[in-house]
Amino acid sequence: METVKIGTIEEIREQARELLSSGAVDHFIGYEASEDLLHVAPSFVRNEQEVDTLAWNLFCINNLATYLKRYRTEKIGLIVKGCDSRSLIELLKLNQIKRENLHIVGVPCAGILDPQKVAAVCDPATITEVREEGDMIIIERGTRGPPIEQPKDNLVFDKCLTCAYPTPLVYDTLIGNPIRPRRGASSTPHYDDVEHLEMMPATERLAFWNEQLNKCIRCYACKNVCPMCFCTECLWEKRDPQWVTKYKNPRDIFTFHMIRAYHMVGRCTGCLECERVCPMDIPLGTIFRKIQKDGLELFDYQPGVSMETMPPLSTYDEGDQAHEDLLR
Ligand code: SF4
Ligand code: SF4
Ligand code: SF4
Repeated sequence: METVKIGTIEEIREQARELLSSGAVDHFIGYEASEDLLHVAPSFVRNEQEVDTLAWNLFCINNLATYLKRYRTEKIGLIVKGCDSRSLIELLKLNQIKRENLHIVGVPCAGILDPQKVAAVCDPATITEVREEGDMIIIERGTRGPPIEQPKDNLVFDKCLTCAYPTPLVYDTLIGNPIRPRRGASSTPHYDDVEHLEMMPATERLAFWNEQLNKCIRCYACKNVCPMCFCTECLWEKRDPQWVTKYKNPRDIFTFHMIRAYHMVGRCTGCLECERVCPMDIPLGTIFRKIQKDGLELFDYQPGVSMETMPPLSTYDEGDQAHEDLLR
């Protein structure tokens, strides 16, 4: 069995302290515990005194790369897991951040727990501690009952079950040892959910998406959390010209989602943060997985896995049939 040294919070804090005290970074972006045991919050640490607020636990799901758009000129240290590091690769290629302004602290990650799955096996109000022992998760309930034990695989986010990049693909410091992908995880993604929809007649497919998207309240949480949605002036918030109204009408909602999907061609790395934060449980990941699948089939391009290849919409060859096909 592979022996893995998992990084600890002490090592992360030590690294942050060193970066801040030496002036190598102006801010360090990590996680901090919240009152709710099943969620963490992003933490923006500015000096050594604040370093001890940093946390690292089984619920650190947020993709912190999304906050880099706030700090385009400052020197930033930040924590990334494997999936988050893919966003950094695309942001670097699209010149949204400067490599010399970043100190990337990579943390190999063997799966993050989905609070909804944990809540399905145990009332969150009764939980006093959640810890990992081998392949098992132990949920302590103090005086409210005996501990609940569950295989970790039952409780992690779905994306973690097929994670091909548990070790960050780009970093300056790695906390702990690299982790191998799970058995069965493949760097060539599977798109079973997308293929299922592709096989439906167009009218049925349209009905499916109308039903899903009609739930949308246009809170914009999905675009705000997305690391790859980085325009300084967002199309959807402009009043002059106003591309969509502020009303909750199906036409504007559809326009928002379809245009955002097109903007994600060659950018979306499938971090699924949009789907995680959607308060209406819309399967947004399926839209972006369709975009990824098309990008792979038409351009042989998989976002976030290599610094060498450029996103398809950043390059153009005259007579390139794939670009024509995408637009069709
Ligand atoms: S997808 Fe991979 S790197 Fe991302 S949280 Fe899950 S296991 Fe960790
Ligand atoms: S997060 Fe969900 S409800 Fe909010 S705008 Fe996005 S899809 Fe609509
Ligand atoms: S569209 Fe969703 S899955 Fe894609 S990068 Fe943005 S938040 Fe992540």
